Amino acid sequence: MTQRVYLDWNATTPLLPEARAALVAALDICGNPSSVHGEGRRARRILQDARSAVAAAVAADPKTLTFTSGATESNALALTPGLHRAATPPARRLVVSAVEHSSVRAGGRFPRDAVALAPVDRSGLIDLARLEQLLADAPPALVSVMLANNETGAIQPIREVAALVRANRGILHVDAVAAFGKINIDFKDLGCDLLSVSAHKIGGPKGVGALVVAEDLRGLEPALTGGGQEKGRRAGTENLAGIAGFGAAAHVAIASLERHAAHCAALRLRLERGLKQIVGSTIIFAETVPRLPNTTLFTAPGLHAETAVIAFDLEGIAVSSGSACSSGKVQPSHVLTAMGTGEALASGGIRISLGWETTENDIDRALEAWRKLAGTLVKKNDETVLERF
Ligand code: PMP
Repeated sequence: MTQRVYLDWNATTPLLPEARAALVAALDICGNPSSVHGEGRRARRILQDARSAVAAAVAADPKTLTFTSGATESNALALTPGLHRAATPPARRLVVSAVEHSSVRAGGRFPRDAVALAPVDRSGLIDLARLEQLLADAPPALVSVMLANNETGAIQPIREVAALVRANRGILHVDAVAAFGKINIDFKDLGCDLLSVSAHKIGGPKGVGALVVAEDLRGLEPALTGGGQEKGRRAGTENLAGIAGFGAAAHVAIASLERHAAHCAALRLRLERGLKQIVGSTIIFAETVPRLPNTTLFTAPGLHAETAVIAFDLEGIAVSSGSACSSGKVQPSHVLTAMGTGEALASGGIRISLGWETTENDIDRALEAWRKLAGTLVKKNDETVLERF
């Protein structure tokens, strides 16, 4: 049997050997990081080393980083009504971009009627003028805008968003999950107040994440209460092994970021050229705006993403239709819908996302499969839906 080709790195990544080694070693540490004795202190050292490594990967102060069970929890924790800085009133409204991950669009602990969606343009970038209006409507608001989109890879102008939010005395949360390990992230330089990341997108284990919280932020109520772990922000004995694996993966992510980005960018060029050669009318979403170097979301006339994903899978190629969290439920991508593609195109986006193990041969195998499948899956003479977008 020929080897399978995994091209769904935005859904999750393989565990790095360094992360596995750190994780396995930490499993043998008996101490509880909260205990004062030697065993406890040993566990605590592992926890703090990992905290330093993950914080360094986003240029944040380790003191400001809270470990969680993943970015879903980080996002839920961040979206707390009442957040404010010392000199600003509490934010009672939440504004999220229309292309956020479902864990942000869920609105955290805000009542439904206190949540507003900020629209995006045809490339998926936030409409800054509309955001400004929404912010001015009833200030101050908590705003959540992702650094890069997990489906299209489009990179948001976060610094500009941060300036608008500050001018309106609001608070900014950034979901940096998709961007983590792919582009440089500097918490302070972005100008945000809260930032979420997840281990399993950078070669760490699944089920571990972190939330960075600016030192001057007030009013972050824990979602889980009990013991005083994580400075009272997140009760519960820490997932030491998972966190150790996260720390090791973060070390690798910093050291290999540039090489990894260049590797993916070259392969993606090969991929996108090939896709266009095979079907001339291919659309690559967010093609003309800054994008993550590893992500391609494309479609072609008549393409149904769910059918295509299964067909690719039968050819041994793992790709996805938009975000993995919404697969299984056959519904159009909310990201493409927000970009104004119309329903037909919003159901036709195939995401190919690359990583450090991806090879030229993998890209060629995917293109070979696509050449074979496109004959039946693409309506060669139906350009109408494409023209409308
Ligand atoms: N935000 C984004 C942009 C994501 O892609 C994901 C993972 N699909 C999450 C948040 C949730 O992360 P986790 O799987 O760690 O809960």
